[in-house]
Amino acid sequence: MSKVLLAENAGFCFGVQRAVEEAIKIQKQYNKKIYTLGPLIHNNDVVNYLEENNIFAIDYNEIDQLEQDDVIVIRSHGVTKKVIEDLENRGLIVVNATCPYVTNIQKKVNKFSEKGYNIVILGDKKHPEVIGINGWCNDSAIITKDGSFDEKLPNKICVVSQTTEKQENWKNTVTNLSLKSKEVLAFNTICQATEVRQKSADNLSKIVDTMIVIGGRNSSNTTKLYEIAKKNCSNTIHIENAKELTKEFIESNKGKKVGITAGASTPDWIIKEVIDIMEGNN
Ligand code: SF4
Repeated sequence: MSKVLLAENAGFCFGVQRAVEEAIKIQKQYNKKIYTLGPLIHNNDVVNYLEENNIFAIDYNEIDQLEQDDVIVIRSHGVTKKVIEDLENRGLIVVNATCPYVTNIQKKVNKFSEKGYNIVILGDKKHPEVIGINGWCNDSAIITKDGSFDEKLPNKICVVSQTTEKQENWKNTVTNLSLKSKEVLAFNTICQATEVRQKSADNLSKIVDTMIVIGGRNSSNTTKLYEIAKKNCSNTIHIENAKELTKEFIESNKGKKVGITAGASTPDWIIKEVIDIMEGNN
């Protein structure tokens, strides 16, 4: 049995909770198979749960398979303006469950690009949230992964951040932009949910022997929690669910202090399973 400490803030964030609840509500309302554009969240267990409730993910390049009046839910990451227009033009019923914080970024990018600002996004250019945001300024944004810029920068810049970025990268970005460009309008759009999770993971990982970070393998906010925890606690592991806890791991942590945190797309029931196993209740 280990002594388990759960991070003060861990698991589902407001935007993800809202998107999942919205999809379940809409499915009940239409009482038929409904779709989400891409997996609603980065968690295989939740995806399975949604499928049991007649909610299926579909890729944008498979959209021809849908018929008029089929219902499609936009996930919390959001999409480009063009994608929404295309779905509506196809006669689909579009339910936009984009997180309001992401919608706010899209609106800013749209507004300031129309006012003649060149948009810079701090984030991962392959992440759907960043691809979506870029679509609100005609895919014209300069995207930096850590605040470094190789290219010459234009003089009028509006900069925003992917919601899951680190503050450190944001500071870097603003500092470098200020040195290289004359007018910089900066909106720190890093989400509080991400920050508080990161802070809690940082605090907890300093006082435990082992850290368990729970979340999807392809979830960027979970990966960041892992990196933060690993800096303080070399014995940090990343798992998707309780099934990945090996006997050796459980045994080797008997009597030790184990900290647990979870990414924004990890539901409570998975966190509970991991706690129960590590506490020896299972
Ligand atoms: S992490 Fe923040 S911005 Fe992203 S979905 Fe959750 S609440 Fe919204």
